[in-house]
Amino acid sequence: PLALLGDPSLLRTDAYIDGNWVGGSNRFPVHDPATGQHLADVACLGVAETEQAIAAANAVLPSWRAKTGKERHAVLMRWFQLLVQHQDDIARIMTAEQGKPFPEAKGEVVYGASFVEWFAEEAKRSNGETLPQFDNNRRLLVIRQPIGVCAAITPWNFPLAMITRKVAPALAAGCTVVIKPAELTPLTALAVTELAARAGFPAGVLNVLTSDAAGSIAVGKQLCESDVVRHLSFTGSTEVGRLLMAQCAPTVKKLALELGGNAPFIVFDDADLESAVEGAVASKYRNAGQTCVCANRIYVQDGVYERFVELFAARVRTLKVGNGFESGVTQGPLIEPAALDKVQRHIDDAVAKGGRIVVGGQRLQGQFFAPTVIADAHAGMLVAREETFGPLAPVFRFATEQQAIDAANATEFGLASYFYSRDVGRIFRVGEALEYGMVGVNAGVIATEHVPFGGVKQSGLGREGSRHGLDEYLEIKYLCMGDV
Ligand code: ADP
Repeated sequence: PLALLGDPSLLRTDAYIDGNWVGGSNRFPVHDPATGQHLADVACLGVAETEQAIAAANAVLPSWRAKTGKERHAVLMRWFQLLVQHQDDIARIMTAEQGKPFPEAKGEVVYGASFVEWFAEEAKRSNGETLPQFDNNRRLLVIRQPIGVCAAITPWNFPLAMITRKVAPALAAGCTVVIKPAELTPLTALAVTELAARAGFPAGVLNVLTSDAAGSIAVGKQLCESDVVRHLSFTGSTEVGRLLMAQCAPTVKKLALELGGNAPFIVFDDADLESAVEGAVASKYRNAGQTCVCANRIYVQDGVYERFVELFAARVRTLKVGNGFESGVTQGPLIEPAALDKVQRHIDDAVAKGGRIVVGGQRLQGQFFAPTVIADAHAGMLVAREETFGPLAPVFRFATEQQAIDAANATEFGLASYFYSRDVGRIFRVGEALEYGMVGVNAGVIATEHVPFGGVKQSGLGREGSRHGLDEYLEIKYLCMGDV
């Protein structure tokens, strides 16, 4: 698939440090999850190069943060325009290494680019405050300054957007960055880096360290332990997030963590059922169920339960599984064999405990899994507690509003949640009662660049996107001026 790139120079396989492409002494392979085909061998860097990248980011920090917001805006806008202009090629690289259907990959490029545009605009708005004095010989100011060198560790499910959502606000704020992209999807990260280089970021402002799974652990450890790195932003599993948090404790690093979810999707008796079905399909099966905001537990009230299951199942049967480059495909492969094992384990457990398979239920060829719906799910099943991260929708039954709220909140996670209702009182009650960072009300897809994305409880810390996303990368400084 990569032979068809309009601009073949977007296919980069070296890492990027201090404005130079760095090959290192080892390489690791990248494969197409749809076909198993070998796509490229990418530079596998380690501790020495991590040190160089941190040093480069630190060396250029004074001049980058000294630029005006408007100057940083100009470079970010060029990067944004290049991303939009090359969206077909980047999407092609993304579908090849990640598997998501090509139209969905293009959607991610546009979504990912929108963070660059948004934060380019926000670069001009890192405003401070003046406060009323507490005696008349003083004046009180609050200024906001870039935090310094930042590290970003990103996952494979959104190979582009999880980079831009962290890096664009950091750069806009006047920080410099070292990025460690996921080892399963480094090619998208490097294509985006090539465009950043063309946009004209000064050498060292943006550095990308690629490494294989074992190398990523070493690189990650060093980013955490460095006292030059002032901020770590991570998107990935809760398990790794906890580890990184512990590794950052000795240097008391500021953290932004976007971890696992276990999203409830509640359908009340008074919902518009057709709309709820569409929302559930969009939320559950996007990226073949491999997003942290995918509906993981669908709760449906007694009165509409059977009808919902019937309509939902019918709609799921229309999903088309296949290679993301084939037209009409809505479900690509899962990222790796272990992901299929997890879906299978959740299905086997549910069936053993009385779950009823309504659609799918089995592996297809290669790394493809049939979109699956299981009815009669209950709280004793693994699917009630663990995030499946695959195309399995368990449908639970409930009777009262309070039962739905209690079930939805009975998890250590708190990222996205969804519910469908047309009762305005209920909308406010339930919206306020859900212990989640985000609530979709009569909406199954809620992410965009100008809203605060993030979770509560063990789903993470901080918010990405919106004006709050810039705050992550700014320190507040209070100036008390005497003798005025
Ligand atoms: P996922 O479950 O989405 O694969 P992971 O949390 O395993 O998420 O991986 C997300 C990112 O974290 C990837 O870039 C991966 O290389 C990195 N990573 C995984 N384990 C570690 C670790 N022990 N230290 C640092 N980074 C890690």
